[in-house]
Amino acid sequence: MYKFVSLRHVLLVSLAINVGLLWRFTNEGNGSDANVRRKTNVIRSSSFTTGLISVDEVQPQEFISLQVGDPTMYTRFWREMGNKTTVVLSGDQHLSYISNVKNLCWFLEPKLESAITRLHQLVGNAVVDDRHIVVGTGSSQLYHAALYALSSLDASEPMSVVAAAPYYSSYPSMTDLLKSGLHKWDGDAHKFNKTKPYIEVVTSPNNPDGFIRKPVVNHENGRVVHDLAYYWPQYTPISSPVDHELVMFTVSKATGHAGMRIGWALVKDEEVAKKMVKYIELNSIGVSKDSQLRATKILQAVIDSYDHTSIPEEGETLFEFGFNLMAERWKKLRTVVKQNPIFSLPNYSPGLCSFSGRTFEPQPAFAWLKCEGQIEDCESFLRSHKILTRGGEKFGVSTKHVRISMVDEDNTFDLFAERLSTIRQ
Ligand code: PMP
Repeated sequence: MYKFVSLRHVLLVSLAINVGLLWRFTNEGNGSDANVRRKTNVIRSSSFTTGLISVDEVQPQEFISLQVGDPTMYTRFWREMGNKTTVVLSGDQHLSYISNVKNLCWFLEPKLESAITRLHQLVGNAVVDDRHIVVGTGSSQLYHAALYALSSLDASEPMSVVAAAPYYSSYPSMTDLLKSGLHKWDGDAHKFNKTKPYIEVVTSPNNPDGFIRKPVVNHENGRVVHDLAYYWPQYTPISSPVDHELVMFTVSKATGHAGMRIGWALVKDEEVAKKMVKYIELNSIGVSKDSQLRATKILQAVIDSYDHTSIPEEGETLFEFGFNLMAERWKKLRTVVKQNPIFSLPNYSPGLCSFSGRTFEPQPAFAWLKCEGQIEDCESFLRSHKILTRGGEKFGVSTKHVRISMVDEDNTFDLFAERLSTIRQ
């Protein structure tokens, strides 16, 4: 029977598989940023051979996927840290659900609590005194917990949740995932003109466009959630410690450990913090202690690297490494974009960073690229050049924009910059 399977059949089958794979990658844009199912973002549509013929011979060029903000650029830094951040766990550790019965957030590991506090004190990006720290399985879980805690449980209709466009593409689907009676996505905060209670999500620096933001609705019956995933000195100048009602951070973008799934919220109001804890209790009975321990080790290593009086050398500390790499990438991208009239990038004003003492322009984790002129659908245009991005409509704005991850591996970024430089209309 095998005799009848011709070379042509094998080739057709392998091409069909490849097209299927590509379809999956290119259609992940509506989900969360963590919707990743590959090892590298350079997708060799022909990364396997049939045994008879390599499909490379049919499709020589690779797809570059920068749709997802997967922070793999930090791998090099942590690899160089060697065993300093190795965590060994034995079988008798972490059997209990409970971390500290005396804490409002009873599943928060005390060592993680103190590492988070020390990190914010070191960087100066958030007020930690008199705050309740609530740990979450990524800031994604904390987002759900915050909406639950800020919604009113006895309201006759779901509370509106808004964010100024362009907003993080996952907020609408996260908000409406369970078609909750408590809250519902109500779109662009700029267009919100109802007088009823609402929740506004403020992402600062913003995903996707990198700008520093403030609430835009400002009604007295509004509650504000600040998503500060990118308020770290490798991406933006730290101007002052934020002092808001509810702020969320995550190791995903601070240290690059997205796979650890650890985030935390700093919450002023005790009742709000208690409700968030209740949500996490009912949703996942706490947060992995193994991950919390590992996060502690990582944050501790970051803090320790600044624990001397001499000025840190390049690459020696996480934020120096991150800052230098982002600066290098943004310089490269801006040079390419300047030379190509098809594209443009936002311009940012420089600011003084109280952490590093430098004055610099924001160098966001995403590039918010615009296709100029006749190109209306920038995502499709770039896809036709084998660059996979996330289109503006998913962020509540026009298809002339795309979001491109700037935090991927070196080779993916370099290939992207090189390919962008060759594109002509
Ligand atoms: N908020 C923003 C603005 C993000 O960009 C992301 C990740 N892309 C998240 C939250 C989710 O972070 P985590 O990995 O901690 O769930």
